Amino acid sequence: MTIQDNSSVNAFIPGQVQLDAHEANMVAMRDRLLGPAYRLMYQKPLHFVRGEGVWLYDASGRPFLDTYNNVVSLGHCHPDVVEAITRQVATLCTNTRYLHETILELADGLLSTVSSELSHMMLTCSGSEANDLAYRIAKVRTGGTGIIITETAYHGITDTVSQFSPTLGPAVNLGAHVRTVPAPAAYRSGPNVAERFQRDVETAIADLMRHGIRPAMLIVDSIFTSDGILPEEPGFLKGAVDAIREAGGIFVADEVQPGFGRTGSHMWGFQRHDVTPDIVTLGKPMGNGQPIAGLLARHDIVEKFGNSARYFNTFAGNTVSCAAAVAVLKVIQRDQIKDNARDVGAYLLEKVDALRARHECLGHVRGAGLFVAADIVSDRETQAGDRVRTAQIVNDMRENGVLISACGADHNILKIRPPLIFSRENVDLFVDVLDRALER
Ligand code: PMP
Repeated sequence: MTIQDNSSVNAFIPGQVQLDAHEANMVAMRDRLLGPAYRLMYQKPLHFVRGEGVWLYDASGRPFLDTYNNVVSLGHCHPDVVEAITRQVATLCTNTRYLHETILELADGLLSTVSSELSHMMLTCSGSEANDLAYRIAKVRTGGTGIIITETAYHGITDTVSQFSPTLGPAVNLGAHVRTVPAPAAYRSGPNVAERFQRDVETAIADLMRHGIRPAMLIVDSIFTSDGILPEEPGFLKGAVDAIREAGGIFVADEVQPGFGRTGSHMWGFQRHDVTPDIVTLGKPMGNGQPIAGLLARHDIVEKFGNSARYFNTFAGNTVSCAAAVAVLKVIQRDQIKDNARDVGAYLLEKVDALRARHECLGHVRGAGLFVAADIVSDRETQAGDRVRTAQIVNDMRENGVLISACGADHNILKIRPPLIFSRENVDLFVDVLDRALER
């Protein structure tokens, strides 16, 4: 089988490594039963049977440090979330067409973390659905269809959203109503990143207009994960947000990656940029593994959509998922998870950056909270990415019990994204294994 899509930098390619009989059988069964669209991670696939905190355990009982997980961002099998789900599923599992307290408690809790302009919460089952819904709302509100995204954006899998998710690769066409702008990478393109980003968005707006397409939305992942994790300089989104609003469109902040405290300084990635989006989309860490996602929006943005279209999504907002999400919010507050992301994240960034002194292939290192990116380059001067070496490092670390992955247009950026309960001790172990992988 030839894998041609973008995930191949860290994908299992059959025939390259020796698997034991049980694993080989499972791989064959996956092929037969699940078909060709699925991918396994790492040159040698992993078979986990248990998780606890920052650790995953494979079938032989071997522990792996999970430094690549923003779904169970409070750690695997967090006892509060397990307890909340268990209690609720044993009591009642129904949908949003009945009165229930928990969805209201969740809405209250989430909306209290953002500006009061954002006054409504709507729930979905996945981040893709949240972005799909945001686009439907944007179209009704603006009368337009045009979408502006960054060049290597990922926003999800539905038919509509895949048309504005270029990371899905050349086989998935961008919509004719979609325009891309370069991601605002200050460390690559130099200063004035805010001005440049604004100008690029304005150019995209002008191009949409020239083709008779009215802009509906600018949507960005507020930490630009698939573009290579771009946190600097805070505030650079402002001009671009003004530009899309002046053109009659809305600004959607996709918080599926940076949300729920990951960036350390704020609960939401867009808050680092001091802007208030018209819609905020949420996902992954929201239920610590329970599938729940959604959006927060201003009243005037959803008013026309809400008055004209009925919204019911069978599983979204069910009582069990809501119980999980309420538990997540409580733990974030009670255990000062955001502060841990800030403090341990700063320590992680400092220690990874310090490795640059000893490893020439380590290029730019950056991050916000517990979201750190490290470029692997063949030449520090030109910043030319080294995709092959990046894959070697990721797989070497996996062999030595630490999980990370890679991102960016050239697939040469180490994506370091541990659960938010990561400790300094975990960082020390992580950096030690990274150091040895870089050495090799
Ligand atoms: N937006 C961003 C920024 C994402 O990273 C993802 C998932 N990787 C999505 C949306 C889609 O979320 P889901 O997989 O839950 O549909």
